[in-house]
Amino acid sequence: MKYCYHTHTARCHHATGEDEEYVKAAIDAGIKVLGFSDHAPMPYPGGYVSHYKMTPNELYDYCASLLHLRDKYKDKIEILIGLETEYYADLWQPSLDFWRDYPIDYLILGQHYVNEETIDPSIRPTKDLEKVQTYIDNIITGMNTGLITYVAHPDLINYVGDDREGYIREMRKLISESIRLGMPIEYNLLGMAGERNYPNDIFWREVASLGAPAILGCDSHSPIRVSEKDEILRANDYLSKLNIPVIDKVELKKIK
Ligand SMILES: [Zn+2]
Ligand SMILES: [Zn+2]
Repeated sequence: MKYCYHTHTARCHHATGEDEEYVKAAIDAGIKVLGFSDHAPMPYPGGYVSHYKMTPNELYDYCASLLHLRDKYKDKIEILIGLETEYYADLWQPSLDFWRDYPIDYLILGQHYVNEETIDPSIRPTKDLEKVQTYIDNIITGMNTGLITYVAHPDLINYVGDDREGYIREMRKLISESIRLGMPIEYNLLGMAGERNYPNDIFWREVASLGAPAILGCDSHSPIRVSEKDEILRANDYLSKLNIPVIDKVELKKIK
């Protein structure tokens, strides 16, 4: 792994370590391009504050710190300033308007909830296929904004109902869209290492059958997890057994 686009910072309140420790860990791991993509602040109506994202007034410090590190380590590594965002129709345009005042290099789409979190702040296991449909519809709409570089943990939703065919049908919509748009989908190493419900084997078998490429995402929430070698080996081994090609470098979609 030479390109690493999915990295958090302590500003999201559930990651640890100094920004510079992530950079040093990436240099030690031989990373050429380190992209930070902390949970994007969104201007919620009514002053709502998300518990797992940086707050809007932390975006300045996020950018200032990463610009400083970009310059300090410019001979050793390239640092990108990204954000991991969700797509929710009502919040999308105000969020873009806000982010565009900052030097943001790219966005990855990491949909964490079915509906916007002030409406339904949970993504518990669900037997409701309609929730899966809503979830996938939001992701596909986000992919089609033309501003998303790649889709993080596309298989995060935890469907535990009986309609396996229905689940596969929804997932195939997302995978087909990624092929149509030439947009990689992420095999998430945090989910793999933590034995979460994703990466989902059913999902990745559909990726293999439709012929979409994958990109590995460290989703680092601590410096030690930046480009963790054993995890990368394990993920590459799994994906190569399914004949899924793995992309390392992606073309960034600019948001300006
Ligand atoms: Zn995420
Ligand atoms: Zn993440």
